[in-house]
Amino acid sequence: MKSVEDTIAAIATPPGTGGIAVIRVSGADAWDIACRLGLLQKERVEARRLYVRRIRARSGEVLDEGVFAFFKGPESYTGEDVVEISCHGGRLVAQRVLEEVIHAGARVAEKGEFTRRAFLHGKMDLTQVEGVEAIVEAESEAALRAGLRLYEGTLGRRLRAIREELVRFAGLLELELDFAEEDVEFASRDELRELLGRVQEEVRRAVRSYRKGKRLVSGVRTVIVGPPNVGKSSLLNALLEEDRALVTEVPGTTRDTVEEAVEIGGVLFRLVDTAGLRETADRVEILGIDRTWREVEKADLVLLVVDGSVEQASGEIEKIVRSVEDAGSDRLLVVNKIDRGLRDWTRSVARGWPRVEVSALRGEGMEKLEELLVEIAVGRADERQGEESEWLVTTARQYEALVRAEEALKRAEKTLESGLSSEFTAFELREALDAIGEVTGDVTTDEILDRIFENFCIGK
Ligand code: GDP
Repeated sequence: MKSVEDTIAAIATPPGTGGIAVIRVSGADAWDIACRLGLLQKERVEARRLYVRRIRARSGEVLDEGVFAFFKGPESYTGEDVVEISCHGGRLVAQRVLEEVIHAGARVAEKGEFTRRAFLHGKMDLTQVEGVEAIVEAESEAALRAGLRLYEGTLGRRLRAIREELVRFAGLLELELDFAEEDVEFASRDELRELLGRVQEEVRRAVRSYRKGKRLVSGVRTVIVGPPNVGKSSLLNALLEEDRALVTEVPGTTRDTVEEAVEIGGVLFRLVDTAGLRETADRVEILGIDRTWREVEKADLVLLVVDGSVEQASGEIEKIVRSVEDAGSDRLLVVNKIDRGLRDWTRSVARGWPRVEVSALRGEGMEKLEELLVEIAVGRADERQGEESEWLVTTARQYEALVRAEEALKRAEKTLESGLSSEFTAFELREALDAIGEVTGDVTTDEILDRIFENFCIGK
C-alpha cells in the first residue's frame, strides 16, 4: 500500500465506450490538479457546483470538453477533497485525461482505494464497505436490497450498540483487577449475567441470519437431480424459459453439469442440471454421476425430479432421497409429467419433503414450483416484509467473526458460572469485543482490509 497522503486518481466508469466516462481524483491536491486541467481559478471554485470546461493537456492541447464536479472534504465520498471529471465515454479520451491528472501529480489508485479511504476517514464502517461491494455486484433485486441495507449501516449500528454495553462491563471487570487485594466487585454479576444472555441471543440471531443473507446476496445454489429421462433438463429449460440444456429421449445424455442463473421472485437461483443418477457401467457417465454427488453436497437446495407418469418408482429414488437427507440441504420433490397422469406411488416417496406436481413440458404447476423455491430458500415474501428489523449477515467474513464472538460470550458466561476470577471473564469479554469490532472495522488490521479490498475494482 502506498501512502494514504497521496492524491489518487482512476477512471471510475467501466472500460469500453459509453456516454460518459468519469475520472475520479481524491486527496489534498485534487482541486489544484483539476483546476490546472480546466483552467479554473481555485479560489473561485465552489464545492458541489459543476463547471463545464475544456480539458487541457499540459501542452495546451484540448483533450475534450467535460464537467468538473468539486467536493470538499469531509463532505465527499472519501472524506477528502474530491473532483470528478466527466468526459466523453471513449476509452482513449478517458485514458488521456487520466494521464494528464497523473502528470499533474496524482498517482493511479489501487483497487478499492477510494472506498478504503472512505473507511479510514470514518465515512463508513466495514459492513457499509461490504454494502458498496454488494450493490456493485448485485445480480438480483434481493441482492441489491440487501446491499443497500448494509450500505445504510444497519448491521454496523446494531453491532456497535452491543459493543458499547460489553465495553462498560469489560472496563468494570478490569478495574476490579486493579483492586485485586481488596476483593471488590464493581460489576454487578447479576446484571452481567443478564447482559451476556441477551447479547448472546442477539449474536446467535445474527449468526443464523447468514444462511439467508448469503443466499440473498450470492444466489441460491439449486441442484436438479433424479433418475435419467424424468425431465430434469426440461425443468431447467422451463425455469429459464429458453432452450439451453440439451433435451433428448435417450436416457443419460446430460453427462456434464449445466449451470444457469435465473431470477425468481427477485431472488437469484443458480440452477445446476446434473447427470441422471442411476447405476451405470458407462465410464463417462460414471464421471458425471460422481460430479452430481459433489454438487448435491455443495447445494443450498436440491430439486429431486421424478416421472410421476411411470408405473413404478425407479429403484434409485429412495437412495437419492437418503443421500440428499444426509447432505442436509434444503429439498423439494418435483413430480413431473403430470400431463401423462399421476401414479399413486408418487405420494409415498420422499416422505416429509415439500412437493409439487408439474408438467415441465406444458408449464402446469410451474408457478407453484417457483413460489415454493423462493419460500424454501429464503422464506415467504410476506415474512420477508418485516425483515428491516431482522439481522442480516451477508458475508463469510462477518459470519466467521460473529461465530467467534458467540463462542467467546459463551465462555464468558461459563467463567461466571464456575466462579472463576474476574480476570478470566474480562479476557473472554475482550475476545468477544474484538471479534465484533472486526465486523464493523473498529478493530482491524491491514491484512483484513487488504482481503476486503482485493475484490474491488480500480476506481471504486
Ligand atoms: P432428463 O434426462 O431428466 O434431463 O430428461 P429430459 O429433460 O431430457 O426429458 C426426457 C424426455 O421427457 C423428453 O422427451 C422430454 O420431452 C420429456 N418430458 C420432459 N418433461 C415432460 C413433461 O412434463 N411431460 C411430458 N409428457 N414429457 C416430458
